[in-house]
Amino acid sequence: MNFLKQNLSTEEAYNYYLKEADEDWKKGALYIRVSTNDQVEYSPASQIKIGLKYAIENQIFISHEHIFQDDGISGRQTDKRLDFMKMITLAKSKSHPFDVILVYSFSRFARNREDSIVYKSMLRKKCGVDVISITQPLSEGKESIILESIYEAMDEYYSLDLSENSRRGKQEKATRGEWQGNPPYGYIYDKNTKQLIIDEEKAKIVNMIYNDYVNGMSIKGIANKLAKKGLKSTRGGFFTDRVLKRILYNPAYIGKVRFCVGGFKRNYSNPNIQIFDGKHQPIIDKELFDKAQAINAQKEELSFKYKKPQPKHEHWLRGLLKCGDCGKFMVKIKVHNRTNAYFQCNGYIKGICFRSHHILESKVVGLILNQLKQDFTDKLNINISLSNYENESELDMINIKIKKLLQKEKKIKEAFYSGIDTLNEYKENKEAVEKEIKKLKKEYNSLKLMSSKQSKLEQIYAKSEKAYKILSDDTAPDELKSTIAHTLFEKIVYDKDNEELIIYYK
Ligand SMILES: [Zn+2]
Repeated sequence: MNFLKQNLSTEEAYNYYLKEADEDWKKGALYIRVSTNDQVEYSPASQIKIGLKYAIENQIFISHEHIFQDDGISGRQTDKRLDFMKMITLAKSKSHPFDVILVYSFSRFARNREDSIVYKSMLRKKCGVDVISITQPLSEGKESIILESIYEAMDEYYSLDLSENSRRGKQEKATRGEWQGNPPYGYIYDKNTKQLIIDEEKAKIVNMIYNDYVNGMSIKGIANKLAKKGLKSTRGGFFTDRVLKRILYNPAYIGKVRFCVGGFKRNYSNPNIQIFDGKHQPIIDKELFDKAQAINAQKEELSFKYKKPQPKHEHWLRGLLKCGDCGKFMVKIKVHNRTNAYFQCNGYIKGICFRSHHILESKVVGLILNQLKQDFTDKLNINISLSNYENESELDMINIKIKKLLQKEKKIKEAFYSGIDTLNEYKENKEAVEKEIKKLKKEYNSLKLMSSKQSKLEQIYAKSEKAYKILSDDTAPDELKSTIAHTLFEKIVYDKDNEELIIYYK
């Protein structure tokens, strides 16, 4: 059968192929790619025919669904190669539907030389699938050994995992305008259609956010407004400034998808960001979105010019000091070139607490240390020692009383045995004494317990005294201070209304 006859259609050629092929042959796939500037001899039909001819000559069975074809349009960006990705996914799948992929030439198989080597190497080593070029057969000789070592070197160099989750896969998806990852606020991801659908209620809020922003409201102001309405973000948290920023920068709201190699990492001005037309409906109109972007750009420029970064500093009060309004932890902030560090409510910084709890570090530390000193050093000297002393002497007294009663009990027994007391008298006296002893022992135990509690308190106080010394020592390491503060305090609340700190000991 001459497969190469011009007038033979692809389907006819495949039918002829099936008559001669045997299903027991080695399983193969055929990959066809054409580009717009190809001449007739490289048309899909002729590539298929040549491939099928080769398959018969080399005893390869290709089932119809394993003929993959991409119509490449020249220009790399638009070269989507859906079938190629489908074929690679199948090659990697556990079912291992074919052992070999036939291509017209390696240049048809991959977009460039690097890709070609990487894919071939990956398919061979990880999937046990060989890629064979019909027009460039490899001999088993030197050449293939050299190539093999190049594959390995390239493979190590790129160590690409070409799964759906890989960068390449993600890039492909983005190029096609498909949404990846969690849906942005205002959308729901429909698993069946694999598309974003608008959540009407939330879409209204997105619109409100954009309108407020464009009308001059600050991000913190918007956060406040939403928090006061009790609205929560997708993950159930407040709309913090970070969440709002994500919304205000997201082109998803005008029906686009965004892609960035290596992720954004919240750098919205990353030059690697690529934007593609998405398959979902927009929530915000383009004009409104563009106005918001203009404000974003203006703010970026301003913050770049004037704002110095405000890193959050470690401090031994970290994880202890809380805002009296919202209950969130307060963080230490130190502005460059300024000597006075201060604490601020983290909720306020994020725009979800409504009142500033700015307090100087020196002030807050001073107040805590003073209170510590007052609470412990003073009490320790007066109350505790005294009450403990009283306890000790009382315990001794009870002990003496018990000893006397035991002696009395002995005498009662002697009186009975020597015939002075009758059995009834003995019983009566004995019960009275035993009752008294029991009562005293009970008293003794409870006093003893109190005393041990006191001594425990005393221990805490002693520890606190030591803690005070360390916490007030400027040269003590912060880590040690932190450990000590956490063993001593449950929390410390800054009550703005009364300008006071409420210390909760553990
Ligand atoms: Zn707060």
